Amino acid sequence: MSALPVAEKWFERRTVGPDLDLYVEPHVHQWFRANIWYCRGRELDLVIDPGMGLASLRAAMAREGVDLDDRPVLAIATHGHIDHAGGMHEFARRAIHPDDAAALDGAADHHLAAMFPEMDVPVTALPEPGWSLDAFTCKAAPATRLLREGDRVETGGRSFTVLHLPGHSPGSIALFDEAGGTLFSGDAIYDGELLDELPRSDPEVYASSMHRIADLAAGTVHGGHGPSFGRERMRQITREYLDGRRKPGCPGGH
Ligand SMILES: [Zn+2]
Ligand SMILES: [Zn+2]
Repeated sequence: MSALPVAEKWFERRTVGPDLDLYVEPHVHQWFRANIWYCRGRELDLVIDPGMGLASLRAAMAREGVDLDDRPVLAIATHGHIDHAGGMHEFARRAIHPDDAAALDGAADHHLAAMFPEMDVPVTALPEPGWSLDAFTCKAAPATRLLREGDRVETGGRSFTVLHLPGHSPGSIALFDEAGGTLFSGDAIYDGELLDELPRSDPEVYASSMHRIADLAAGTVHGGHGPSFGRERMRQITREYLDGRRKPGCPGGH
């Protein structure tokens, strides 16, 4: 662990559009490297999935000239997995679906090392000198708002509908800006290997969500991992998932 170098920069920022930035954590193992979306609005900014929480996202954003202290901001976890929700504690306003909300409660703070018992250290550099996986805890940050199917999130500029798309986890949600055709999909769909065999996953339920996603009029999908993609690719991913599940002798689909 101590042999790892200290990262020069923990978060990498990419401008995606006039009101949208993507932050990633390049030194987090690729399996856990989630997309952190920062969506600016006239009345409310959204941070959709604030990442692992290993280093301060807010401080990194401030260094990029984005001072969130000056702006109303709502952090939304598309679901409770640590690669997406670990950074929720940095935000005063925190939203998640009720079925994944317990992940934020942290009756006892989670020790990160205990969450990766069979894995190598999930980072390739240290967020700061002296940082240790063994000492790191994921801080409790109970939800201040629960988001359910059909709820709306208005930013002043974009209007999102909450879609409940369980399967990867029971409380997986997506945010759909119908007018702009933009879907922030979390881990319900992304361009990579979809995971339906995690402890709280349900492949049957996931398949229903996939049917629903296939019918969405989304022009751009910003997923929880990997590159963004368009409608054709979205439909192809849903088809591949559903076809994979239908193969005899391959009940899990992979
Ligand atoms: Zn996940
Ligand atoms: Zn994920």
